Amino acid sequence: MYLDVFEPATGHAFARCPASNARDVDAAIAAADAAAESWAATPVETRARCLRRLADLVEADLDAFAELESRDNGKPVALARSLDIPRAVANLRFFADAITTWASESHATDARAVNLTLRQPLGVVVCISPWNLPLYLFTWKIAPALATGNTVVAKPSEVTPCTAERFGRLAAEAGFPPGVLNIVHGSGPDVGEALVADARVKAVSFTGSTRTGAAIAAIAAPRFKKLSLEMGGKNPTIVFDDADLSDATLDTIVRSGFANQGEICLCGSRVLVQRGIYAAFRERYLARVRALRVGDPNEASSDLGALVSRAHFDKVTGAIATARAEGGHVLCGGEAVSPGGRCEAGWFVAPTVIEGLDEHAATNREEIFGPVVTLIPFDDEADAVRLANATGYGLAASLWTRDVGRAHRLPATLEFGIVWVNCWMLRDLRTPFGGMKQSGVGREGGVDALRFFTEPRNVCIALD
Ligand code: NAD
Repeated sequence: MYLDVFEPATGHAFARCPASNARDVDAAIAAADAAAESWAATPVETRARCLRRLADLVEADLDAFAELESRDNGKPVALARSLDIPRAVANLRFFADAITTWASESHATDARAVNLTLRQPLGVVVCISPWNLPLYLFTWKIAPALATGNTVVAKPSEVTPCTAERFGRLAAEAGFPPGVLNIVHGSGPDVGEALVADARVKAVSFTGSTRTGAAIAAIAAPRFKKLSLEMGGKNPTIVFDDADLSDATLDTIVRSGFANQGEICLCGSRVLVQRGIYAAFRERYLARVRALRVGDPNEASSDLGALVSRAHFDKVTGAIATARAEGGHVLCGGEAVSPGGRCEAGWFVAPTVIEGLDEHAATNREEIFGPVVTLIPFDDEADAVRLANATGYGLAASLWTRDVGRAHRLPATLEFGIVWVNCWMLRDLRTPFGGMKQSGVGREGGVDALRFFTEPRNVCIALD
């Protein structure tokens, strides 16, 4: 059985991916289980070498990966070439280096004992990833899991399975022994749930929607599996009247809402602007958004490509209809667009800016995950924090101010796992990545990822 894979820019199926079943899941987990002991015993330097080789192979194939990612997801090829694939390569290299420099703790207990923390691989772990940054997020999980000596069963999104398939072939070439990395394609309910439920699986690292995260937690929690959940967001971009609103800043703020068609969990979809500068900011902001070009992802001039699927296109256009019904005033965009030509039947939506809705509106509370941004005025610092936090999500916020005190003060009051000050999506792979509230449980990245994928064991050695 196969599932059709669609090219969002054309609306036509261009590939098929296996609709795996319980037998396939069982075979993948059995292979991972059989390989677990010997991979855990493989020297760290050997594991790191495999990851580095894999990084080199992906990098050598960058253009083909970028074209495939774009075709599968709808994002501009240029974005896949500059962001998705280089970041996937960086993830592999980063965790290859991280594992070779990682040290565990030791605690001297007066003169009586020394406590060592042994950190050992968990065994078989499952990595489940979404469609928005397919290879980028796939490797973000797989790399630390393999580096720490676990064997992996990984499931890419069935909506964008293509680069994971190509990646799997290169993994074999990179020297990973059979059974160490297993990629299973198929739907969430058929494959994902079976992977999470299996008793041989010790941990689940998931990125995707909050709804799916809750379903996974319900299966995993009674079986006492380790869980890392990275989920949805409704992120605020907070612009104070003392911000340096240079053209470059404005460009970044616009990009923070519309990059990858707004289909990045970190996109700022609520732009809160201090009332005194609201009107002037809106004018400059709208001029930039109107200038964004929606078009064929293959064309270098396209800033935005297509939305990932028909279902997601319907969700986003439905959310715009809801915004109108709630009394929102659409300042620009607000409708589907067709670039014509081969993209005539693709799933394109114009970058949309809406104002006039308060924090209680569904538009300002629920994740849309498309090129839709709301503008909301605020009065002062307290008002900004209140509005920013008025959502069940807590992934990322960006704060724009030249006030050093505020830049230090506010992040502690904002209920978000990541707060950028005068920047957006500036990433350092060593930092804890993830959200609070309905956006996540646990953190990825750096030492947090290495800790997640290992079991700490305290060994207390008496000294006399
Ligand atoms: P999704 O939850 O529909 O699917 C994500 C993955 O989970 C897919 O591989 C899917 O097949 C699988 N899945 C679906 N149902 C499952 C089940 N019952 N059991 C096990 N697995 C199941 O999410 P999506 O639509 O692919 O991605 C978009 C969402 O991902 C957005 O909400 C976005 O905010 C979120 N996201 C979060 C982050 C983050 O770091 N916090 C990053 C990227 C995307």
